[in-house]
Amino acid sequence: MSDELTLAIIKPDAFGAGHAGDIISHLEEEGFELRAARVAELSREQAEAFYAVHREKPFFSSLVQFMTSGPCLPMALERENAVSHLRDVIGATDPEEADPGTVRAEYAQSVERNAIHAADSPDNAERELAFFFPRTELV
Ligand code: GDP
Repeated sequence: MSDELTLAIIKPDAFGAGHAGDIISHLEEEGFELRAARVAELSREQAEAFYAVHREKPFFSSLVQFMTSGPCLPMALERENAVSHLRDVIGATDPEEADPGTVRAEYAQSVERNAIHAADSPDNAERELAFFFPRTELV
């Protein structure tokens, strides 16, 4: 099977705590290759648009506030089965439920401040990659 691209974001909690390098190393050890990355400070409008699917959830405004609280690091990552493998590697949304050795088990502070985002389907990966990276930046 050919390689696939997916979108991850090192969230403001982990980026602000200086864990970006360790998390990227962890992902590289899992066979992901970095294809694009940039430090971003999301506006409220961008965070609301990115998480629009959660607009009706009780935690939506808190999530938007968190995601705009500081810089984050969106990344395009390539690997075979990148979307599903990255979801395995990051672990469950709630770090209390994340398997040992997953990124969230190691770096998440709470169900909201959970260190990393990863696209949850190939369609969403495509949409989310386009959200942050023009096609020409994906090498
Ligand atoms: P993910 O795909 O594992 O990131 O989880 P979801 O798509 O369900 O949720 C998106 C993000 O919203 C999560 O990564 C958390 O940052 C946040 N979130 C999810 N569930 C909750 C919750 O119950 N409470 C709060 N405060 N935040 C949540």
